[in-house]
Amino acid sequence: MASLAASPFSIKDFLKSFMLVELFKGMALTGRYAFSRKVTVQYPEEKTPLSPRFRGLHALRRYENGEERCIACKLCEAVCPAVAITIEAGERSDGSRRTSRYDIDLTKCIFCGFCEESCPVDSIVETPIFEYHGEKRGDLYFTKDMLLAVGDRYEPEIAATKAADAKYR
Ligand code: SF4
Ligand code: SF4
Repeated sequence: MASLAASPFSIKDFLKSFMLVELFKGMALTGRYAFSRKVTVQYPEEKTPLSPRFRGLHALRRYENGEERCIACKLCEAVCPAVAITIEAGERSDGSRRTSRYDIDLTKCIFCGFCEESCPVDSIVETPIFEYHGEKRGDLYFTKDMLLAVGDRYEPEIAATKAADAKYR
């Protein structure tokens, strides 16, 4: 005959179940969080602040006179651990050295920021932009013209993040 001690029946569990203890504990927890400070945001209408060092979509910048900053030194290409940057360079008609090709394959990029850190003229940068996408592999292959267009469009934001971070460098 099975002993009573070995029985799975427990008066304590029965009473807890009968008095809906677990249900009230759950409702108390819900009530506590319903009136506490919210830590979630309603993205995309609401957004959390970004660090000036946030590493988003790449851009190539120009000087105020419209001249592109890049001097085709290829440091960014050499330092890129993902081999995502492809540069071809040549001499322009005015004798200056410039890139004839500057591509970044963002499907290879690991957003380490080494390219930005290595650039002596603040040309290649990673912007605060993270809302972009591609629907096929080629969509995330950014050419020089595309990178310059990003830089032209977001220069005020890029300059502001550079200025905000300057005192820590
Ligand atoms: S962020 Fe890093 S991986 Fe991406 S292109 Fe720059 S150096 Fe390469
Ligand atoms: S983006 Fe900067 S590091 Fe890269 S080739 Fe141009 S000047 Fe050199």
